[in-house]
Amino acid sequence: MSTPVQPQSPRPARPRPKRGEGQWALGYREPLNKNEQAKKDDNPLNVRDRILNIYSKRGFDSIDPSDLRGRFRWMGLYTQRAPGFDGGKTALLEEEELDDRYFMMRVRSDGKLLPSATVRALGEVGRDYARDTADVTDRANIQYHWIRVEDVPAIWDRLEAGGLSTIEACGDSPRPFLGSPVAGVATDEIIDGSSALEEIARRYIGDPAFSNLPRKFKTALTGHPSHDVSPETNDVSFVGTVHPEHGPGFDLWVGGGLSTNPMLAQKLGVWIPLDEVADAWAGVASVFRDYGYRRLRSRARLKFLVADWGVEKFRQVLEDEYLHKKLVDCPSPASPVGHRDHIGVHDQKDGKKYVGLAPVAGRVSGTMLVQLADLMDTYGVAGARLTPYQKIVLIGVEPTVVEQLIDELDLIGLEARPSNWRRHTMACTGIEFCKLAIVDTKERARSLVAELERRFPGLDTPITVNVNGCPNACARTQVADIGLKGQLVTVDGKQVEGFQVHLGGATGLQANFGRKLRAHKVTSADLDDYVTNVVTAYLEDRTEGENFASWAAR
Ligand code: SF4
Repeated sequence: MSTPVQPQSPRPARPRPKRGEGQWALGYREPLNKNEQAKKDDNPLNVRDRILNIYSKRGFDSIDPSDLRGRFRWMGLYTQRAPGFDGGKTALLEEEELDDRYFMMRVRSDGKLLPSATVRALGEVGRDYARDTADVTDRANIQYHWIRVEDVPAIWDRLEAGGLSTIEACGDSPRPFLGSPVAGVATDEIIDGSSALEEIARRYIGDPAFSNLPRKFKTALTGHPSHDVSPETNDVSFVGTVHPEHGPGFDLWVGGGLSTNPMLAQKLGVWIPLDEVADAWAGVASVFRDYGYRRLRSRARLKFLVADWGVEKFRQVLEDEYLHKKLVDCPSPASPVGHRDHIGVHDQKDGKKYVGLAPVAGRVSGTMLVQLADLMDTYGVAGARLTPYQKIVLIGVEPTVVEQLIDELDLIGLEARPSNWRRHTMACTGIEFCKLAIVDTKERARSLVAELERRFPGLDTPITVNVNGCPNACARTQVADIGLKGQLVTVDGKQVEGFQVHLGGATGLQANFGRKLRAHKVTSADLDDYVTNVVTAYLEDRTEGENFASWAAR
């Protein structure tokens, strides 16, 4: 039976009720999208027990789909991309259709100093369980591939013995922290923030109060004047500053993030003492948890809230509702120019040296890490830290052994005096393993570096090249001199791997997003020549002392 049609009656226009954005603090708990529903159904941290007691024993096929494609991330585990799908398939298939039966595993380092035993454990896990993979990511993680769920308990045992964890290395949670790689040792350090990062991790990683955030939440903290943790591009950053009366402490920056709607962090202009940083972190994370936008995943990062509120309102809510005190005003620290990666040999406060090493675009292996641990033992090196630039810094090297150590590091592929190209090129995971990728990145970056070293052997100025496999900008597309965003490019009616180019991005004093020039799309095959042409134009046209970012902004 058909439903009778109701007579239409003219109604006065009424304003539509404003739909909430899913902010818990405003009572908007519904409607939930599927990610919010999964988090509501079961706290994602509970998946750890199921991995240990069920899935690792019964195998891949026993994994509940909502755990596999959701909660596993809270344990630092994603399914990796199944081999055989090209970039065109990425757009055509659902993410889960690209699932392999193996996992990518991320291990957080959180700015910790890793002694040789821990570096060895990281290497052995890569060698024994991950087909010898062990990349250094630009979140200072070690990232493995080819992990089987059956091996996860044994891997966790080895990592935990070294003081490391994969908890909340992914997911809508407090992702791995970036800390200054030279904390506590650099001669020019303003303040050593290591104890604050340790305190945040000790209190809040794995804390159910922060395990259901609207989306990922990235933290950076540095007391080094070079701002060596890319604080402009994190959700929350603590940046060393000096108050004229109170001395060294931290400014608070919020709302940075790249991806498809890039925004630079906004500076509160405050002074927070070292022992109050963890409380301030919890305050910012709580604002995000309670007021963050949950309805649409595309708006669920802190940057959108900060952009809508403005930094004054953000500060007021933080102070009034969470910290219950006023923060101390203090001008934000001056923005630096120059290197942030600590490559090469540098003096420490205690008379020893620290030595920054460059693998190519973060590509390391388990074997290489075991070899590195052996060298650390042989030369009495205190420890290693991973950097946000896909590098490794050795801390506490005796000056008398530096040169010999560097020679031996060269032999295993870790250069302390790399070319400008090797030093300043980063690449994300790309199509080799990432389900979102459209193009290859790591191998493309490696061959690009080799070719640019051949074509510009004596390049006298840094030019950063960040290679990304898709618009998500994991390797910070928009803040590189030459930022490459993977996409398909049409040539003679055929779609091939290529890149949209962003030119002249920077952090620090010149903080700015690279210009996306519509015409600057290049196929992967033509990339060497494209970069060569751009660099040649810069070298011929630059004025005295003009860097690439300034030239590109003209
Ligand atoms: Fe994957 Fe894209 Fe991130 Fe690269 S930028 S790791 S391709 S999501």
